[in-house]
Amino acid sequence: MAPGVSPALLPGNTVWLRTVPCFTVRPGRQAKDSSAAWRRPLLAAAAGATFSGRPRAKLARAARGGDTKAPPEPRARGPRSERDVANDVVFGVVAVDLLFNHDRLDMEVGEAFRRSVYSPAWKRLRYYSDSTAPEARSPAKSWRLQDRTLERQFSLSCYYTEQAVQDLKIARMQDPLMPYMQRTSRGLLEEAGVQSTDDPVSNALIAWMAHSLTVPSGDAEWLRCRGRPWGYAVSKPEVSEWLLPVFVEHDRSSHAERMALLAVGQLVKSAGGKLHPDSPVKGTVSVYASHTPCISCMAVFCQFKQRLPGVKLYVCFDKWGETNRWIDEPKRLPEEEDSAEPDDA
Ligand SMILES: [Zn+2]
Repeated sequence: MAPGVSPALLPGNTVWLRTVPCFTVRPGRQAKDSSAAWRRPLLAAAAGATFSGRPRAKLARAARGGDTKAPPEPRARGPRSERDVANDVVFGVVAVDLLFNHDRLDMEVGEAFRRSVYSPAWKRLRYYSDSTAPEARSPAKSWRLQDRTLERQFSLSCYYTEQAVQDLKIARMQDPLMPYMQRTSRGLLEEAGVQSTDDPVSNALIAWMAHSLTVPSGDAEWLRCRGRPWGYAVSKPEVSEWLLPVFVEHDRSSHAERMALLAVGQLVKSAGGKLHPDSPVKGTVSVYASHTPCISCMAVFCQFKQRLPGVKLYVCFDKWGETNRWIDEPKRLPEEEDSAEPDDA
């Protein structure tokens, strides 16, 4: 790609154009044109080169204004361990997030990331959302989803997570209830005294969930909730028959999005329904997350689709930077009069 091609020309540019205005560079953190230093290791990573050291630390240093030292040259290709590959993938995810946040993600890097990170992960996510897969009809054999491809990265980055929810056809990023869900969730964060942090902390994150389900079992039962927030489980949840988490760096079984959807399963079962692709359960479930869902929560969304194909799942989320900015400046809370209420759902 020729230098200078606008990021707005990336595939999916409507998403790009919509989300870019959300990002601002904080005072004193002027973005320098250090993107070349980020692109090099990312493109080399896509080509299979191995890097030593901690990728997040290196890229964070670049984000603070760029390294004064030249970036390391890629080493020659040699025997590579799974850990080397995972390290490179994480390098790529952090780089894409940083480039995106500083409006420096261009088509060349975007395509390299799509080819080397997004596409392999997307194929696995698509498989876990397929109701005809054998796993959909057999009980879970482990407490977690063991998948080497998904276990390589904690996230697909903000931009490509939004791409993934669109590709999975579960995106509802313009949900009319979004301001209401934001207001409710942010109010709880304020009540809980959550402090502003550059990186999200799982136990301070919120998922908001609403559902309207019909469970035909004898007398059809209608289950409806106009919305309630869910937080991180205080203690490790019991092993579940579905919605297995992906272990990446740490146990993600307690994440708020998973807790919300596990509750839907409990409701369905208590109404006599089954968590099975042939289950006649129908309806809709909407989930909002106050941050970009991690790879484990993306896999959970997929398994929900797989086991309950008659239920339409809608997902929307804020990027952590947006929620964090609100924590810094609570006056940004959306005005009540501008917000739709759950009754309008
Ligand atoms: Zn998660």
